[in-house]
Amino acid sequence: MEKMKVFVAGHRGLVGSATMLALKNHPDFEIVTRTHGELDLQDRAATRAFFMEHRPDHVVMCAAKVGGILANSKLPVEFLHDNLRIQLNVFDAAREARIDRMIFLGSSCIYPRGCPQPIKEEYLLTGPLEATNRPYALAKIAGVESCWASNRQYGTRYLAMMPTNMYGPGDNYHLEHSHVLPALIRRFHEAKVTAASSVVVWGSGRPRREFMYSSDLGDAIMFLLALPDERFAALTHPDVAPLINVGVGEDVTIREVAELVKATVGYQGELKFDATKPDGTPRKLLDVGRLAALGWKAKTQLAAGLQHAYEDFLKRHAA
Ligand code: GDP
Repeated sequence: MEKMKVFVAGHRGLVGSATMLALKNHPDFEIVTRTHGELDLQDRAATRAFFMEHRPDHVVMCAAKVGGILANSKLPVEFLHDNLRIQLNVFDAAREARIDRMIFLGSSCIYPRGCPQPIKEEYLLTGPLEATNRPYALAKIAGVESCWASNRQYGTRYLAMMPTNMYGPGDNYHLEHSHVLPALIRRFHEAKVTAASSVVVWGSGRPRREFMYSSDLGDAIMFLLALPDERFAALTHPDVAPLINVGVGEDVTIREVAELVKATVGYQGELKFDATKPDGTPRKLLDVGRLAALGWKAKTQLAAGLQHAYEDFLKRHAA
C-alpha cells in the first residue's frame, strides 16, 4: 500500500510535536512539515503554493496562536485574527488541493462557560462563552463550522477535535503567557532553587481543570487518522457536527494540581493565592464518551505525566 502523506501543521508546538512522535514510526504515514520560518500559514499565497506542490492526503491542523489566560486577555485581536487568518488559508488551500481528511485541533474553551459537566459535543453554541478566552474560542468555533460546511458542500471528511487542557514536553514555560501547568512547574522549580519561602498561584485555587499529557493526544490523533474509511466517514457525515472531544474524563482543582506540582518538583515552601489574577471558567470537564465508544482511552495518569513534564523542563531550561 502506498503511504498516506500527512501534513502536520504546527509540528513544533505541544500538540504538533506529540503528533509527530506518534506518527513517526507508523508504517502507513509519510509526514510533511514546515517550520514557521519556511512557511508562514498567515501568508495566503505561500500556503496555497505549498498545498498545491505537496498535495498531502491528510492534514493535522495544530498550527494556532495559543496561550494562557493572561496572554489571551492581553492580545485579544491576535488570538482572534491570527487564528482566523491561519484557518482560512489552510481550509481554502486544503479544498483546492483536494485534501481527503483533516483533523482540526481546537480546545475545550469553545463550549459555553456555564454548560453542564461533563461537556458533551452537542453543547456547542448553547450559551455565552467565558470572556477571558472568547476571541480564541470564536476563532476555533469558526474552524468547527469550516469543517462542517466543507463536509456539507464539498463532501470532505474534516473532523474538529477538542482537547482538554494539555501539558507535556516542549511546552511554553513562559511565566506570564503560558498555561497553568508549565507556569507552575517553572515557578516551583525556581522557588526550590532559590529556597524561596512561598510560591504564587493565580486566582482562588478553586477552579477545576482536566489535564491531558500531550503524548496521549498524539496517540488519539494517530488512532483517528488510522481509522478505516467508513468509520472515519461516520464521524464526518454532513448531517452531524464533525466534533469530537478528547480528554482524560476527570478533573482536579487548581489548588490540588499546584500541590501535585509542588510534590513533583520537591519544593518545601508554601502556596500563596493571588486573587488579583483571573480564575477564568469555574470548570471544564469534557465528556469523552464519543471517543471511548470508538475504542480509545487516555493512558497517562496526572502524577506520572507531571513527572515526565518536569524532567523535560529540567532538560530544556534548567541545565
Ligand atoms: P484556562 O484553562 O483557559 O483558564 O487557562 P490557564 O491554564 O491559563 O489557567 C487555568 C487556571 O489556572 C486559571 O484558573 C488560572 O487562574 C489558574 N492559574 C494559577 N496559577 C497560574 C499561572 O501561573 N499561570 C496560568 N496561566 N494560570 C494559573
